[in-house]
Amino acid sequence: MSTPAPSHADEAAISPVRALFGGAVAEGLVFPYPEIAAEERETVSAFLESFRDFARDQIDPGAIDREHHVPDKVVKGLADLGAFGMNIPEAYGGYGFSASAYCRATEEIARTDASIGILVGGHQSIGLKGLILFGTEEQKRKWLPRLATGEMIAAFALTEPEAGSDAASIRTTADYDAATDTFTLNGNKHWISNGGFAQFFTVFAKDTKLEAKDEHRRITAFAVTKDLGGIVPGKEERKLGLKGSSTVPVEFQNVRVPASHVLGERGQGFKIAVEILNTGRTSLGAGCVGGSKEMIRRAAEQATQRRQFGTRIADFEMIRGKFARMVTSTYALESMVYLTAGLVDRGLMDYSLEGACCKVFGTESVWQNINDALQIAGGNGFMEEYPYERALRDSRVTRLESWETMRRARSRATSLRRSSRGSRHSSPPRRRSSPSMGGRSAAPSRPCFASTGRGSSRRNTSRSAWPMPPSTCTRPWPRFRARRRPSPGEVGTNPMQSCESPSPSSPTPSTASSRT
Ligand SMILES: Cc1cc2nc3c(=O)[nH]c(=O)nc-3n(C[C@H](O)[C@H](O)[C@H](O)COP(=O)(O)OP(=O)(O)OC[C@H]3O[C@@H](n4cnc5c(N)ncnc54)[C@H](O)[C@@H]3O)c2cc1C
Repeated sequence: MSTPAPSHADEAAISPVRALFGGAVAEGLVFPYPEIAAEERETVSAFLESFRDFARDQIDPGAIDREHHVPDKVVKGLADLGAFGMNIPEAYGGYGFSASAYCRATEEIARTDASIGILVGGHQSIGLKGLILFGTEEQKRKWLPRLATGEMIAAFALTEPEAGSDAASIRTTADYDAATDTFTLNGNKHWISNGGFAQFFTVFAKDTKLEAKDEHRRITAFAVTKDLGGIVPGKEERKLGLKGSSTVPVEFQNVRVPASHVLGERGQGFKIAVEILNTGRTSLGAGCVGGSKEMIRRAAEQATQRRQFGTRIADFEMIRGKFARMVTSTYALESMVYLTAGLVDRGLMDYSLEGACCKVFGTESVWQNINDALQIAGGNGFMEEYPYERALRDSRVTRLESWETMRRARSRATSLRRSSRGSRHSSPPRRRSSPSMGGRSAAPSRPCFASTGRGSSRRNTSRSAWPMPPSTCTRPWPRFRARRRPSPGEVGTNPMQSCESPSPSSPTPSTASSRT
């Protein structure tokens, strides 16, 4: 018996971008625009305020760039603020920020310094994300509390000299020995962010004893800690930008990893890598929002102070045009990022297309915005004394793979459309397991939300299911000061707007959003 064909409305309910590919608007998902719960908004506001105070006193982005190093006192200060535990559930000693709150914090950190953004993002957006998503209770209790405090810093080790975009072609091996129930890891990873000092690595390796038709199904993910021995970081890379972040090759020399360190199932590693990278794309977009806003703020300062031909350069039509473009793309990106994050918080199961949009549009927009800001600054924009040239160098890296991300997203959307069309005449499309880095399996026949009740997010659902961990999970760091609750006049309807107070020293062009 054939299953009834999905209606236009059913398709739209799967994901907003997928609906758009089919010419539909997913009204049920897009309206009302997602909001952060009031309680969390207050926590995020307090975190942001403390972070800004700390950044003003302690972070010198120019020095980080020149000295190729984030000073230890800054790393310690970030740890004291709890910045390494933002997306770690409270039960394991973190803040348990929702995706929206995490994006908001990422925005602020990235706008302050991109190298610090990589340090903090490499740690939790990708380094430990696999442990949160796929770890067992025992694994989480063992490592998350120390990762939340920054006692352990995490890194994500997928790329190899011969395996970049084509991650399925990795050569690092994991040989299983049933007698000792351990794997022996051998291989070379490269360009690993935080790799120079990380204590915890999410490592992907070919599971040699695993029989599988497709190569990518032989990849297993491991939680590998430095104390196992045999992990040898190489020399720091000299890079175009992000000079303060650690980027190194890491060699795994006969590393004996107990089977209890496998994340998820054996052979699930590729799926795990894809899932981690999907979640990281939305917060990467948030970092681009932060970078764009900082550039608009700086450019506005420059344009209102600099006079040529007897007038402020801000009054020239071409300069105004640049502000219009910068503000428009930033507003679009901000809307896209926080809609996606809000849907993740409400339990949207498949946001791979939305994440790809955040990454591609974000990385293209921030590049264009920095370039416009540099142009507005004129010759100053070219000088190291000003932040523009550094911002341009720092932002270049994310565009390296953005077109590949979009290509994969496009091909995924096409195949979703095909499978959806087919379903009108037969059974619903099956869950697709694709080796594509850009996509996650689609299951149009399942509900799009883990839970449908308003406010009953996936985060909250999962949190209540977690038993309390041992006493080591209490937060040992002095958390940021709790600030007063914002008065109603300060809290806008835009959930993100309410998370920050505008900087009094930031001249803002009249066309800019109040958050720039
Ligand atoms: C600063 C920095 C930090 C990094 N941090 C990490 C990390 O922490 N962990 C980690 O595992 N990796 C990390 N990487 C690696 C990064 O993820 C890879 O650089 C990325 O996957 C691309 O691989 P590649 O550089 O080998 O390029 P390649 O895969 O060789 O691609 C080269 C070019 O070809 C394009 N291309 C590839 N395939 C296609 C296709 N099918 N169609 C069209 N175009 C295509 C790409 O878009 C790119 O422009 C980092 C890289 C850098 C530069």
